[in-house]
Amino acid sequence: MRKISIDKLNSLFSAIAENETLYLPVDTKAGAKFEKWHDGAVLSDALNTVRSAKDFFFPQTENLMDFKVDGKNIEIIDTREECEDFVIFGVRACDVKSFEILDRVFLAEPVDSYYKNRREHGVIMSLACTKPHETCFCGTFGIDASSPEGDIVCHMTGDALCMDAKTEKGKALLSRLDSLTEETDGKAVEEQKKVTKERLAKLPLASLSADSFGAGKTEKFFGAPEWKELSQACLGCGTCTFVCPTCQCYDIKDFNTGHGVKRFRCWDSCMYSDFTKMSAGQPRLTQLERFRQRFMHKLVYYPTNNGGLFSCVGCGRCLSKCPIQMNIVKVMKKLGGKEND
Ligand code: SF4
Ligand code: SF4
Repeated sequence: MRKISIDKLNSLFSAIAENETLYLPVDTKAGAKFEKWHDGAVLSDALNTVRSAKDFFFPQTENLMDFKVDGKNIEIIDTREECEDFVIFGVRACDVKSFEILDRVFLAEPVDSYYKNRREHGVIMSLACTKPHETCFCGTFGIDASSPEGDIVCHMTGDALCMDAKTEKGKALLSRLDSLTEETDGKAVEEQKKVTKERLAKLPLASLSADSFGAGKTEKFFGAPEWKELSQACLGCGTCTFVCPTCQCYDIKDFNTGHGVKRFRCWDSCMYSDFTKMSAGQPRLTQLERFRQRFMHKLVYYPTNNGGLFSCVGCGRCLSKCPIQMNIVKVMKKLGGKEND
């Protein structure tokens, strides 16, 4: 494990950015946001960014390809630029876990080569949480906020940043920073983990359980009368899906520019009334059905198809952003029975 004094963070970031594009959370008027590092950029103190780190691998919009039509001939133009290596610093444990959930979707056959390309070029420098929020419940899904995964796992221990490389990509990057960093025995990190775990255990949602949900529970929950009350006030605004690190629905549209056709992929939301609308009609006609789809997917369908893995990481973003204060915790408490009373 290596460490560097906090007052030398700018030198560390500068050294990383010499070879790779570096992104890190910075404060903006709209809250913390991942931005490209520039000399003097200050790392945000915020626990989490408003939008998650999934944007790096699954951007909100992207131009997949262009077409040129000439009579009966169609030329397909590959618009992809070769992705260069990049480093994301400050990814929290919940967001790191979300990559595993997205990987199971985009890296399953047929592999999404756009996503795969970005995943292969990205190096994750995660950052352990020290002061989790009241809205955090990553522990419900077995995530330890004091000890995230990642290529390099970082811990802020008072006056130092400690870094532990966990993968070949991480080791290669950390060894390049040798002249700036020094070896540490990791005792400060262990101490800090202990304190953070105590804080995590005292969070209001620390005892929230997902045990009643999971693989094979479709029949148990699909027809539950509680969906009516839960979904009644939902505006169908889609905010919860757009801030969520694990939501992965998208739409593909062709746009005629007059000089050719551009094919775009854009995030979509199962909460929208025109989601997956086909010429034959709309498969989910009511907001109740759309609302149920979102939560059944996270708590039942995804685990059913992915060996029991839930597709929520307890980041708490939907708890703080929904305009009507509806969220997955309320759904779990209402439907989850005794475990969550
Ligand atoms: S649950 Fe909340 S954030 Fe999500 S679509 Fe409904 S109103 Fe919007
Ligand atoms: S459902 Fe809510 S708490 Fe769960 S990962 Fe998505 S935004 Fe975070």
